[in-house]
Amino acid sequence: MDKQTILLDKLAYNETVNCVQCGYCLPSCPTYATFGKETHSPRGRINLVKMAAEGRISLDDLAGPMDVCLGCRACEPACPTNVQYGKILESAIDVLTEQRRRKQSLKEKAMKKLIFDYMIPNKNVLHFIGSGLQLYQTLKIDDFSRKIGFTNILPEPMRQFEKITPKVNVKKRKHSAIQPDTSPRFRIGFFVGCIMDTFFKRINDLSMKLLAAAGCEVVLIAEQTCCGALHHHSGEKEKAISLAKHNIEAFEKYQFDYVVNSIGGCGAAMVEYHLLFDEADRWYPRAELFSDKCKDISFILDQLELPFKMEIQKTVTYQPSCHLKNVQKVEKEPVRLIEKIPGISYIPHKNMNMCCGSAGIYNIVHFEESMEILNLKMENISKIKPEIIITTNPGCHLQMLLGVEREGLRDEIRAVHLVELLAEACDIS
Ligand code: SF4
Ligand code: SF4
Repeated sequence: MDKQTILLDKLAYNETVNCVQCGYCLPSCPTYATFGKETHSPRGRINLVKMAAEGRISLDDLAGPMDVCLGCRACEPACPTNVQYGKILESAIDVLTEQRRRKQSLKEKAMKKLIFDYMIPNKNVLHFIGSGLQLYQTLKIDDFSRKIGFTNILPEPMRQFEKITPKVNVKKRKHSAIQPDTSPRFRIGFFVGCIMDTFFKRINDLSMKLLAAAGCEVVLIAEQTCCGALHHHSGEKEKAISLAKHNIEAFEKYQFDYVVNSIGGCGAAMVEYHLLFDEADRWYPRAELFSDKCKDISFILDQLELPFKMEIQKTVTYQPSCHLKNVQKVEKEPVRLIEKIPGISYIPHKNMNMCCGSAGIYNIVHFEESMEILNLKMENISKIKPEIIITTNPGCHLQMLLGVEREGLRDEIRAVHLVELLAEACDIS
């Protein structure tokens, strides 16, 4: 096969031809709003992938616009002809990663391997990093460093995120189970994630308690590992597949009704595990079964009765996780749960469905671009003057904390995960 035929095969060319160039997806695209260029819109990117597959432009021409795509997939539900932009994007990332890998120095290859093979999925490494951070916070080195201006030497993204990093609580997880007071409605395997369980362990703990309070048996299995989302979105497909196999094998032993998580991004990766395999692969049906069982906590709680005990007399708005809404298709459930909280006043903000600019590690690797999107988001949120911004994903949670900090609204607006507010209203701590 010549080089061009290989490219035609690897890029999702057949999907690109389904695009009729109508442009209905343009208003939903955050990078089209901030860059204002056709090449940085879904339609433009689809066209570029098509042209690269046909050999009319080089992969270098494709790289720039694809690199700054958030992967939020807000363009998919906006498309009247159901173009699967996610497939097009992933094929482009795979091809571009392969090309970059060929050009990488040994040092760059070793660094990538260190991050994706040994750091992100490794609980011991994350525990070590978390412990260092916890010590930094407990000994109040953070306050001191800020006071003497030491944090000014940090790169801009780190300096800004350092200010809003939540209090870290590292504690190694063991296999555990919580039983409800009555006979269980569902038997649930709980997925804790790695970044979530390092920075927002409390939210995982509250999630499990809420599920039990709503009548579920909740089991945390120690064998679970990273979902592989960051690997997949960074073109490390082989590693993503090996992590997916690990999780499928770990959870299928227990025959749970559902595998539940409170992490929009990880949940989206897991509901698409089957797409990592060819349909003829023996892993495909196992992955499909696992993916069917993976649910966001809001999907489960929405079907059950929560034991509300307190009123929360606050004005709130909701920032949906793009991957929860556009990939997992969980859109109405979080809003219904918010509206059930006694005393709450819920106000949606303008362009609520637009990404906040977090998008995995987008806000670190494309900090400036991400902050432009965050500024648009905060402009719309500030107009309705909420007291609380509700999120459903740790990345969006951190981004909202940063948005509030950058706007100088720390004393006026709290950013919380939906689970925290539900637990507060149920008097669960
Ligand atoms: S995934 Fe998001 S950023 Fe990328 S083209 Fe679609 S709407 Fe735009
Ligand atoms: S992706 Fe869909 S909405 Fe966007 S231009 Fe193509 S056909 Fe139209």
